[in-house]
Amino acid sequence: MKILVLNAGSSSLKFQLFNMLDLSSLASGVIEQIGEAQGHARVEYFDSSGNGQVLEVRQSVPDHRSGMELMAKLLRDNEILTEVSELAGIGHRVVHGGELFHEPVLINDEVIEVIKELVPLAPLHNPANITGIEVAMEQAQNIPHVAVFDTAFHQSIPEHAYLYALPYRLYEEQKIRRYGFHGTSHHYVSKKAAEYLNRSFDEMKIISLHLGNGASVAAINQGKCVDTSMGFTPLEGLVMGTRSGDLDPAILFYLARETGMTIAEMDTLLNKESGLKGICGNNDMRTIGQRAERGDAKAQLAIEIFCYRLKKYVGAYIAALGGADCLIFTGGIGENDSRVRAKSLANLDVLGLALDTKKNNSRTDTILEIQKEESRCKILVVPTDEEFEIATQTVERLTLPSL
Ligand code: AMP
Repeated sequence: MKILVLNAGSSSLKFQLFNMLDLSSLASGVIEQIGEAQGHARVEYFDSSGNGQVLEVRQSVPDHRSGMELMAKLLRDNEILTEVSELAGIGHRVVHGGELFHEPVLINDEVIEVIKELVPLAPLHNPANITGIEVAMEQAQNIPHVAVFDTAFHQSIPEHAYLYALPYRLYEEQKIRRYGFHGTSHHYVSKKAAEYLNRSFDEMKIISLHLGNGASVAAINQGKCVDTSMGFTPLEGLVMGTRSGDLDPAILFYLARETGMTIAEMDTLLNKESGLKGICGNNDMRTIGQRAERGDAKAQLAIEIFCYRLKKYVGAYIAALGGADCLIFTGGIGENDSRVRAKSLANLDVLGLALDTKKNNSRTDTILEIQKEESRCKILVVPTDEEFEIATQTVERLTLPSL
């Protein structure tokens, strides 16, 4: 039997097919530019002789329904998944589960209603996730569907860390609090790190740094998340590709008063025009790194600001945890950019973090251990795999004894 993982974005549909027995990947793909004049599908899979194959299709994909049909056709025509009945279940990524979902759930009408009620908290993500679920449930009716929430891992954060110092009624009436995101990734890499170190996840203090286009830090104590840098929305915390991260909220009052900027314009400013892009005009760390090497001062400044914010969070989370056994780098930047890793951990020996330059500059596709021998805290680079984690959690949910 097989497990299909679906991640529906506003104009894209990512999918990955796993063998349920060992969770080996059978195929993965993405359909992009859904709703645009020309869509693009790409699927990577292993054929019956075990050879890797890549398929590319360009055609109009007007909506998620046709995207899902195209995915099913590509899987069927290439004998990757011939019948829907080969599926033991479908796992759906859902960005916002609010305070209601602490773990994966089997999807029924009531669950869909609750995810819909959470749309105001995640207006960009939850509607696309719901469309993906509704279309998949129509097309695969007799298969169990499981929702895996990005926010779920953070539901263990204690009240003193998730509440803002605002009038308490705003939490009661509007549910304004820290929710945190990237939970599936933080959970996956921290379990992987414990396994690699041959230690029990439930006895470790871990700081997980997910550094991609979006970036967040999580503090994990004895297997439970106790704080994270993203907040009510994924805007808070670290400097990101196009998001500002932390800032003085009074800047917005000032801008409104002095420039007449509207709420929509401020939303665009902070979410799409700030972060690395706001400082140096580019949001891709690879390009910024190349510019910095050529002596571009704005690119160097963007890296400096990114790493300084990160360093402050590392210090803060060591304080929150009372020390750390392991610090993890993951995400596109965390996994690949040794300069960012070195800069953000420079001079933190005092906190027990001593990076080994040579190890930091080496590469592997698996886990890389990059601390000096004398470092109190292990420092690991762990490639993230959110789809694998969703598949794992889907299988766990499907095999619970209550079923
Ligand atoms: P993600 O959102 O996890 O896909 O990460 C995207 C970010 O990772 C972008 O800023 C990329 O420029 C960055 N990235 C990917 N590969 C590298 C690399 N080899 N070196 C530096 N940054 C990279």
